[in-house]
Amino acid sequence: SYRKGGYHAVRIGDPFSGGRYIAQRKLGWGQFSTVWLAFDTLSSNYVALKIQKSAQQFAQAALHEIEFLSAAADGDLQNTKCVVRLIDHFKHAGPNGQHLCMVLEFLGDSLLRLIRYNRYKGLKLDKVREICRCILTGLDYLHRELGMIHSDLKPENILLVSTIDSGKDPVRSGLTPLLEKPEGNANGGGGSSTMNLIEKKLKRRAKRAVAKISERRVSMVGGALGEEASSKSERSLDGIDMRCKVVDFGNACWADKQFAEEIQTRQYRAPEVILKSGYSFSVDMWSFGCTAFELVTGDMLFAPKEGNGYGEDEDHLALMMELLGKMPRKIAIGGASSKDYFDRHGDLKRIRRLKYWPLDRLLVDKYKLPEGEAKEFAEFLSPVLEFAPEKRPTAQQCLEHPWMNVVSTQNDADNVESQVRNLKIKG
Ligand code: ATP
Ligand code: MG
Ligand code: MG
Repeated sequence: SYRKGGYHAVRIGDPFSGGRYIAQRKLGWGQFSTVWLAFDTLSSNYVALKIQKSAQQFAQAALHEIEFLSAAADGDLQNTKCVVRLIDHFKHAGPNGQHLCMVLEFLGDSLLRLIRYNRYKGLKLDKVREICRCILTGLDYLHRELGMIHSDLKPENILLVSTIDSGKDPVRSGLTPLLEKPEGNANGGGGSSTMNLIEKKLKRRAKRAVAKISERRVSMVGGALGEEASSKSERSLDGIDMRCKVVDFGNACWADKQFAEEIQTRQYRAPEVILKSGYSFSVDMWSFGCTAFELVTGDMLFAPKEGNGYGEDEDHLALMMELLGKMPRKIAIGGASSKDYFDRHGDLKRIRRLKYWPLDRLLVDKYKLPEGEAKEFAEFLSPVLEFAPEKRPTAQQCLEHPWMNVVSTQNDADNVESQVRNLKIKG
């Protein structure tokens, strides 16, 4: 894809926007773009630089994303609403064409990496609560204040944030950004072995720098987790403050101005999207419910597969009903695609025998949550996974739910312990 109309090839040390931003290291990529850690020489801050492929349709998509990111930034001057901040955007001319670039605040690892880091065992409920609070704050803002639907909410699109320091003074914190291209890296040949050596050295150095940033800025769970999360040692997230932000506005739309019929990533897709019954803000709430479950258990809530004689969509609907009970007939037959999956009684056409396993039982039997905790979490989650979209609670209502406002029992236990310790010391 590094050809005309495709990705822009970046080398460490490359300058952007008249030299304001200097590329440091690749952070990630998508179908449309690559994302780089860059140093902003104007503000002396690390930023994330998202560089779009250059062809017309990708430029169009970037303009769309910039529209939604700008709206989100304009309504959140204090930057407290748990949505990634767009700092700047510009065009960059390269050998493959003109690339639209977005400069975003630099965030840490995604919740997907966090789940992986925790070896798919699920996070403690107090951590999940902290994360849910951020996601819901972001959704409440997008929905109620902006009239925006994110439409691609999932663990991969929620990134952790630093609470330790804002990385304002990387030099003092011992992080020296790479500010200029070293000799030999400039002409982009990359053929000679000396040049490869220099490249390798630079990459190692950039990796070290990012690891350091991660330790300090991203509360240990940023940037540096990587795939090495497979080593045997126990991983603890104790004492780490879980703050996060919603990213990736490439698929966002306005509630009153929608662009696509099929939205959301498969596993997080709401039933009304599959059935083509029309959708609104509550599709994000469905995806939120799937995400919260995944944080607690380490498993995706729904992972549909196509089978013998039925498709992925029908399997998805079957999985939903096995967990949540039979879909009310009116909803089942009410969509433009209903006839593809349901008969007129509201039964699936090709998948007949469903194995019901309700959420609270699943949490206890399969995921070994204590009965009480399972019941409370299921009471929070079940309404979010209502088949009828209008019955789902809003993000604001979820924030007010008792489950979100439980006083941490872990802290209570810690307090009792420390009081006992104090008594012993005094005694
Ligand atoms: P595409 O639209 O190109 O298909 P995408 O929409 O999935 O890709 P993003 O989700 O915005 O693109 O970014 C891709 C990846 O880059 C993220 O999953 C993350 O790893 C990294 N990334 C994006 N934004 C940031 C940021 N602000 N800070 C740190 N890393 C980021
Ligand atoms: Mg993404
Ligand atoms: Mg996107």
